[in-house]
Amino acid sequence: MATKIGLTGGIGSGKTTVADCFRELGIGVIDADQVARNLTIPNTTQFDQIVQCFGDEVVDSDGQIDRKRLGRLVFSSAQKRKRLEAILHPPIRAEMYARARRDEQPYCILDIPLLVESGQYREMARVVVVDCRREVRIRRLRRQRNLSDAEIESVMRHQATDQQRLAVADDVIDNNGAIENIAAQVRALHQTYLALFA
Ligand code: ADP
Repeated sequence: MATKIGLTGGIGSGKTTVADCFRELGIGVIDADQVARNLTIPNTTQFDQIVQCFGDEVVDSDGQIDRKRLGRLVFSSAQKRKRLEAILHPPIRAEMYARARRDEQPYCILDIPLLVESGQYREMARVVVVDCRREVRIRRLRRQRNLSDAEIESVMRHQATDQQRLAVADDVIDNNGAIENIAAQVRALHQTYLALFA
């Protein structure tokens, strides 16, 4: 049973890059978005509940949940967002914790975009935040992911601020500088976590 370490950061902070560094060190990374996708394929309870709640318009021509469309719906209404979270969050959490229990490493990383916003950070042995200033993140997202300002703004509006994330962080990875600086910071944290949890 691996100790649960929560990893979070705002969109464009470099969270995926950090998660990959932990993977390279042989540490298991449980990705909340990936678990969510697996739990919402056709013929799952969650798929049926989402269609029942939001209608056939959230199913694409291949019979899969249309994530972009569902995202637009829930970003436009707090009530709809709450209903989707009520369907998805309990089974996602259960699946992630079951995987952590099966993991035989000293610790594992739970990659959760809304770790702070959901309050789930309280259930982690440690919280590591990838820190990168909002302006730098916007610049990277525009250039590297080709996102429009409106798309970036609509995601950021529902995310915690940099200050809110830092307030609950036990450990911080600074990604305001060059991408090459990430690996060494992850290796240092890895040593800390092995010392604490091995
Ligand atoms: P997140 O998962 O937090 O949204 P990513 O790790 O996918 O962020 O990073 C967002 C984009 O910015 C990616 O294209 C990534 O390669 C790039 N990136 C990450 N860190 C840096 C950095 N320090 N300098 C320049 N580009 C970076």
